[in-house]
Amino acid sequence: MAEKVSIITNIYGDNGGEQLPLNLKDKLCLMTDGKCYVNNAFLDDNDVVQLLSLWKESNLLKELIYESSAEIKARYDLKDKTILNTSLVQKEIKDLFSYCVSKDASDVHIMVRDNECIIKVRSLGDLHRVHDLSHEKGNSICRTIYTTMCDSADKNFQPKKAQGARISALFLPDQLSGARVATTPTENGYYMVCRLLYKPKDKNPTLKQLGYEDFHVEDLEKLAAKTSGVTIISGPTGSGKSTTLQVVISDIITQAEGKSHVITVEDPPEYTIFGWEPAKQTIISESQEEITDKKIKCYATQTPVMNVKDSAQKAEKFNLAISAAMRLDPEIIMIGEVRDAASAGAALQAAMTGHQVFTTVHANNALTIFPRLIDIGAKKELACDADVVCGLIAQRLTKKLCPHCCKSLLDNMDEFLKRQGAIATLKRLLVSFGAYKNYEEIKHINDVNVMLEAIKDVDLSGVRIRNPDGCTNCNFNGLSGRSVVAEIIMTDQKYMELILQDKKAELKKYWYKDLKGIDMQMHGLIKVKQGLADPIEMERELGQFDLHEDIHFDFFYKLLNSYELPTLERMLENGFYIQDFKNKYPSYFNKPEIINKPQKNPKLKKAN
Ligand SMILES: [Zn+2]
Repeated sequence: MAEKVSIITNIYGDNGGEQLPLNLKDKLCLMTDGKCYVNNAFLDDNDVVQLLSLWKESNLLKELIYESSAEIKARYDLKDKTILNTSLVQKEIKDLFSYCVSKDASDVHIMVRDNECIIKVRSLGDLHRVHDLSHEKGNSICRTIYTTMCDSADKNFQPKKAQGARISALFLPDQLSGARVATTPTENGYYMVCRLLYKPKDKNPTLKQLGYEDFHVEDLEKLAAKTSGVTIISGPTGSGKSTTLQVVISDIITQAEGKSHVITVEDPPEYTIFGWEPAKQTIISESQEEITDKKIKCYATQTPVMNVKDSAQKAEKFNLAISAAMRLDPEIIMIGEVRDAASAGAALQAAMTGHQVFTTVHANNALTIFPRLIDIGAKKELACDADVVCGLIAQRLTKKLCPHCCKSLLDNMDEFLKRQGAIATLKRLLVSFGAYKNYEEIKHINDVNVMLEAIKDVDLSGVRIRNPDGCTNCNFNGLSGRSVVAEIIMTDQKYMELILQDKKAELKKYWYKDLKGIDMQMHGLIKVKQGLADPIEMERELGQFDLHEDIHFDFFYKLLNSYELPTLERMLENGFYIQDFKNKYPSYFNKPEIINKPQKNPKLKKAN
């Protein structure tokens, strides 16, 4: 195996004799496996020529590989020469991660099977095949990742066992703070997934930049302003919930100007969480504080739970870490995830003793967070208190249209209808926008003109579709990044009573009707209305548009129609430039007074 390869440092091979002269150590390097690395600039060098022919004659040299002097020198400088070959694989892996970073990728999937290895990279939510390798190569990559690049308690890579670890930032490109590794055996091999953890940018994104709407932000601010109670975010892996938590907590730190102690218990920390506090300059001689305009970073205390072998031990360590955190006098505590009775109990207990708690749980949507909590063993009678559990949030990430090249739906209807399933999507869209009462009403109409003629109060002028050819701004795929669709339930006592009484249908109705709940699909429709997302892509991500019957429709349509066109602010957040906006929406600029009040913009005429 590769691990046994080492450098031959004697001129006559390992059998002793003369040491290789120092001045040759940046020109060539012979390995025990017969590979010889040489800088081809020195192929005429007398010493090099002599050594190469000597090694060839004595059968030590089997393959010549060209490398730079720096790389050759680095081989000699490595302390542990036995891992040399491994370090080359490490370099390849690092290159793979660099490629991922350049594509804004979130995960690397490595599938090793009997006779092959396929590497795929997830970018913008979709997997793309990037390498087809031999089984051996795949094995060497996975083994190298697990045994030499990870900080994990169990250094033994066992393809026949499900394992987890974390790649240390040392081996990764600068933009990453680490990568979570999970492997699992498959029928004829195994599967490894590396989730890339990006370092936070120096400036945190705002909730609106993440994709939340004003009405969400209002709710989130209300939750952040509470002094006690639990806020729970749910969503599948990769739904961006950690980023949302990071932003919410950073805002709290900044709001509190560093006067509150924020502590996190994470497995392991995904992002550095910080806010900003005013920099105070104490002039000691005059014993007075001068508050300057300067702000300094103020960090949350992040406690990692790592180096555990199995899930039972992990749960135990996690819960110990929560108790330890509670003793460190926090005002705000973030618990990475509640996954069992103990962590759920600890979160509730912390909230009941006057702490503000943020945590995540695996649940499909906001309505199922509570059943999930009870499932994992939270005490219903403790949890069902609106002062204890205040906010239930669910989110997903959906693809954003490239604002530079997306096309108007109405102006490009023919092109749109050529796409698979487009007519059905259009019908569902019209029903969801309130143009038709239900799908039955429109089911049999197949003439789009007839379909659109009947629309009176629905404005589709803002709806944009993906340009499949793309442009230079979007790497020619018509999409640019992802954005949150979310639903937030602000609990109240009635909501809790319905949960206690286990009245599921009534609970749903109460949220939709009385609390005027906006679910993720409704949020998705708002994005489509604003031209920020392609309707077909949105359905692919959230399921077919089919609004729940209990929705407060009047409220929703009113809300939806307040988004006739994306606001300038919204477009800028989505990477738009003012000039593009001027070109695309000249009417905004003919009436400059409405730039800040797009809602009052007189409805634009429908194209055609
Ligand atoms: Zn584009």
